Amino acid sequence: MRVLVISDIHANLSALDAVIADACEFDAVWCLGDLVGYGPEPNECVERIRSLPNLVCLLGNHDAAALGQIDTEVFNAEAKLSVQWMQTHLLPANMDFLRTLPERVENDFVTLAHGSPRNPVWEYILDGRVARKNFDSFKSPYCLVGHTHLPVMYHLDSESGTVRMGIPEMIGTIELSPRAILNPGSVGQPRDRDNRAAYAIFDLDQQTWTAHRVAYDIIRVQRLILEFGLPPRHAIRLSEGW
Ligand code: ZN
Repeated sequence: MRVLVISDIHANLSALDAVIADACEFDAVWCLGDLVGYGPEPNECVERIRSLPNLVCLLGNHDAAALGQIDTEVFNAEAKLSVQWMQTHLLPANMDFLRTLPERVENDFVTLAHGSPRNPVWEYILDGRVARKNFDSFKSPYCLVGHTHLPVMYHLDSESGTVRMGIPEMIGTIELSPRAILNPGSVGQPRDRDNRAAYAIFDLDQQTWTAHRVAYDIIRVQRLILEFGLPPRHAIRLSEGW
């Protein structure tokens, strides 16, 4: 089974559609949260995600904020503006969908969380030290997270108990061995200085992880951000990839 793994779409429909077209064939979709926030097309993105086959979708911090579940004071001024814009523009049916999303999903094979298995909505796994602590917070062979907007993987060496961090090749397939924490990067707002949308294909039968990047129409998204009065910084950063 080929699973399309996406995260941090951030209301960027052009990037999401480029990913879906590029991924081509997949049997299921695991979306690790932050469907909304920052970008100009939150309703269109929620509706597109909802239409995907065999979907498992998690709640991200921006989704929780759009639902009013998080005090906007924790965000910087521009992110706060964007959250308020989402709250006034999201249609009730899409709000209802976001309200159904779980913070964490775990089965015998994989654990899914937006930020980390230990603190699903908020914690950033940005280094091996934090990753190491999080290996104690799930039991499955693999854990998938988003939230940092950086494609990365952490492997736990079961004998030494140490964690090895790896940046997946931009396009390439890695054979996985348990246990690992994997991050596909961000569809709608990459932050690794590569402005192309990031996603991964997780082949459950082969136990392989393939990291992908795909270019999309950034100028269209930037134009909409400015047209809708969203913070210009959120437009600029898309072409820079940060
Ligand atoms: Zn995010």
